[in-house]
Amino acid sequence: MSLQRLRNELQFSVVVLFCAAGLLGVLPFAVYRLVQGDADAALLDGAIVIALGGVGLYAWRGGDLERASLFLVTVATIGLLLIARVLDLAGALWSYPVIASYFLLLRWSRALVAASTLMLLMMLEPHAFDSMAHRLMYLASAAVTSVIAYVFARRTQLQRDQLEALAARDPLTGVANRRAMDKELRIAAEAFHRHRVPAALVVMDLDHFKAINDALGHDAGDDALVEFARLVQSYCRVGDRLFRFGGEEFVLLLAGTGVNDLQAFAESLCAAVSTRLRAGGRAVTVSIGGAVLRKGESNAEWLARADAAMYEAKRRGRDRVVVDRETAAG
Ligand code: GH3
Ligand code: MG
Ligand code: MG
Repeated sequence: MSLQRLRNELQFSVVVLFCAAGLLGVLPFAVYRLVQGDADAALLDGAIVIALGGVGLYAWRGGDLERASLFLVTVATIGLLLIARVLDLAGALWSYPVIASYFLLLRWSRALVAASTLMLLMMLEPHAFDSMAHRLMYLASAAVTSVIAYVFARRTQLQRDQLEALAARDPLTGVANRRAMDKELRIAAEAFHRHRVPAALVVMDLDHFKAINDALGHDAGDDALVEFARLVQSYCRVGDRLFRFGGEEFVLLLAGTGVNDLQAFAESLCAAVSTRLRAGGRAVTVSIGGAVLRKGESNAEWLARADAAMYEAKRRGRDRVVVDRETAAG
């Protein structure tokens, strides 16, 4: 389980690997100082090893990663400042991995503040450098390390955001996909169960879509899907969410909508599609099912009721709306 997280979860792997690397890096020095009889340095190294081991174990056993990251950064910083006092320049050299830890473990804005503060404290440390030239060289090299780490952290964050946005979108229509839907349904359900904010689901399936593809070709079918998504979105209010559920089936989440508003909205959308959506000159129609979330109901049950209502609309002849009215009881 934790081995799998090491491969899949960035923050988990950074915390655990940083602890492991820090432990392996500092432990030999703790032993060396002990053998040399340098009690202060040995004690300090020993305390850092124990703290790193503790954080690593806490994260490995499923502890809160934000907390672990903050603790790790604090241990690394305090450890570094003390070791620079005890060991002079040899201690100051540990600044570089500590600066790297800021940019790997903290948000970039916090990391910048932490790195600047660390450099300032090190510059003010009377024992760490034996000349002004060394002090300035340290400042220059630590600043360059910070800038490189900052650029790397920003780029990585940007790429991660872009990947997340891509993973949540349907490439053809540009609307959110099924993956994003699960998350939004959870949020809407929580608002309902906690604060009684009503929420409605609309399941829409284009009618005889296979025939459209067969008659006009797959590209024309694709164009109709794009147009359909655009038309539905033009009907949405701010806060409504459209998802492509798969194929020619779409789901619309209407926040703050009760059963009567749902019926009126779905009727007008259905009429708009049949009058305005065209493929090769032919009208394209949609069958719509709707359901309002009920007390004590799971999201899967809610979606299944809206889906069943949509199939009922198909059964009754397509190009129509069926709303599961039982929902009014909830
Ligand atoms: P019904 O009215 O019962 O919904 O009939 P239907 O033909 O729409 O339903 P069916 O499930 O038999 O066929 C769905 C079709 O949608 C088949 C598939 O080729 C087409 N389809 C699914 N995804 C896409 C897509 O991305 N692009 C295009 N062009 N067609 C798609
Ligand atoms: Mg269909
Ligand atoms: Mg279908």
